[in-house]
Amino acid sequence: MISTWLLRSAISGAFAIVLYLVSAGVVARFWSRGVARSVVKHDFKLGIISLVFGSPVIQGFAMTSERYGIGRMYNDVAERGWLYWVISLPLYILCWDAVFYVTHLVLHIPYVYRKSHFRHHSCRPPVPWSGIAIDPFETILSGILPYTVPLFIFPFHLTTVYALNILLMVWATLVHSSFNWSGNAIMLSPQDHNLHHAFGLKNSNFAAVFTFWDRLGNTLNRRQTPPWWGKDSWTPRGAVSAAPATDETFVPDTSKP
Ligand SMILES: [Zn+2]
Repeated sequence: MISTWLLRSAISGAFAIVLYLVSAGVVARFWSRGVARSVVKHDFKLGIISLVFGSPVIQGFAMTSERYGIGRMYNDVAERGWLYWVISLPLYILCWDAVFYVTHLVLHIPYVYRKSHFRHHSCRPPVPWSGIAIDPFETILSGILPYTVPLFIFPFHLTTVYALNILLMVWATLVHSSFNWSGNAIMLSPQDHNLHHAFGLKNSNFAAVFTFWDRLGNTLNRRQTPPWWGKDSWTPRGAVSAAPATDETFVPDTSKP
């Protein structure tokens, strides 16, 4: 039992690390920028910590659900038909994004932010390697919960869920990149998430994929541009990594849209 769990954790952890290296590596090849901090010592290190910590947790969840039938996952697409399968793709991402939105709000509670989430916000400006640069506590909140909570709400095809989470990892590297796309009515963009990183505790743009949840919570901010947007490199004023990020260099626009 324990050895199976360790083996599965090693395999899924190794797969996740390779995926992180390839996706962040490729995105960074095209859309990165010069930053003052050491990306290897900060962003990359946190990314690896997150995967090494998160993989055994996910495998623990998977093994528990297999053993006790927890969750509503199914294995054969024919069980619910292809039409449901097609609908379930955006439905899963929508649920994933809703859980991410809520847990991200929790991460911006002052105490939680100062103890944990400031590490992710120290990635300022973010680069593709910042995509999963989160500590173990944040890994539970914004890595594990958005992944698993939807599985209790609607039935999802298990292999498809794994595939979608691979795409979501690639997406995480992309929204932290300098890919110059400002988004559309439905999708959040790298510019929207870079703007989130321009702020500290008090913030906007909490979702990761769709604009819906931020619209619903009145937290969508497209009135400003990140101070580093369109620049090849950018150095923040003052210390970045240690202190909680409450950025004096960038004044939030608190006016109502
Ligand atoms: Zn945040």
